[in-house]
Parts: sequence; structure tokens; C-alpha cells
Amino acid sequence: MQAALAAMAAQTILFSTATATSHSLLAPLSGPNPTSSSLHSSFSPRLPLKLTCHSLIFSAAAPKPLAVVAATKKAVAVLKGTSSVEGVVTLSQEDSGPTTVNVRVIGLTPGAHGFHLHEFGDTTNGCISTGPHFNPNGMTHGAPEDDVRHAGDLGNIIANADGVAEATIVDKQIPLTGPNAVVGRAFVVHELADDLGKGGHELSLSTGNAGGRLACGM
Ligand SMILES: [Zn+2]
Repeated sequence: MQAALAAMAAQTILFSTATATSHSLLAPLSGPNPTSSSLHSSFSPRLPLKLTCHSLIFSAAAPKPLAVVAATKKAVAVLKGTSSVEGVVTLSQEDSGPTTVNVRVIGLTPGAHGFHLHEFGDTTNGCISTGPHFNPNGMTHGAPEDDVRHAGDLGNIIANADGVAEATIVDKQIPLTGPNAVVGRAFVVHELADDLGKGGHELSLSTGNAGGRLACGM
């Protein structure tokens, strides 16, 4: 409807323009003559003028409200090692909020096992090549709730009598995107409990003295 009105408006403009110069045109109309060609030429701008109006209408109507949809990012890591220990880590993050980490590991001895994000997503030499705990801020080892901790310090997961550990960890220091993203790094489940930096062992402030690496994956 708008386009039709615009076309009519365009014609109105055209006719009013024609009217303004029509004194000389009207006379030839009633006569048998060669000047009808001049009449055609006066109407020739009509088509381009209509097209211009249409394109204006369309460009004005084209923009639509942008729908802002919350972006949920997801990632999965499969943990494997040289023993029967294996597991799956599923991560999700809404926009720039904390990351939710769902962990399920089987084949463990009952009890606590250190669980960390290590620096390198590299298992070419087994779990040892994943390097140290991911530590972009140059901190010492700690508990997940500590201010001073490695970004990769996710504490312990607890295996039940069947050797199965299931945990849901919500953490702000392991986003799925950006410079400190977990993507390209590796999760590692350890042989022993992480003392969270408070064990007094020489390794407490670097690894939590969590022992060997049972399984890892990225
Ligand atoms: Zn650490």
C-alpha cells in the first residue's frame, strides 16, 4: 500500500511538473503533428522516478529489530590414561558468566582425587605432556575458592566405593572463550587428593601434592 501511494505521489509530482510547462504541450496534443514526440519525452522520466520511490520505500521498511539471543558455549573433554581410569568432562558457559563443569570419572580408588585444568592440550607423551596447572596469573597453587590459586585449580572429585566420581563444579576462571579459554588445554585427574596448597609438602604450592596423573583429555 505504501508503495502504491508513493507511486501515485510520484505521478502527482510528474504531472505538476508537466503542468508547469504544459502551455506549449497542450496545443500540440490537439493537433495532428510531429510534436507528440516532445510529449513522450516529457513523460520519459516517469519510470525512473517511480523506481526511485519504490527503492526508498523498500530500504525504509527493510530494517528489522535485532533479536538478542543468549549465547551458550559448550565443550567436551574425554579423559583417558594408561590405567582403567577414564571419564568425561562437559562444560557450558552462558555469555560471560561462570563455567559449569560436569565431571564423571570411573575406575578410581575410593576417596578424593585432585582434578585440574593443565596448561597444554598435549598428550603426545601421555598426561605428563599436559604441563603444569593452567596458571595465567602467576599464582601459587590453592583451592578453587581461594583468591590465590591457579586458574586450573578445581579441587578434588570424590570417588564412591565403586570408584565412580561425579561432580558439578561452577568456576569463574575457566571461560570457554577469550585469552584464558579452557579450549586447547587438558583436564587431569590425579592419583591422590589435592591438599589445596595447605599440606605443608614441598609440592603443596605447585601441585597440591596430588601424585601421578591417572587420566587426561582435552
Ligand atoms: Zn594448581
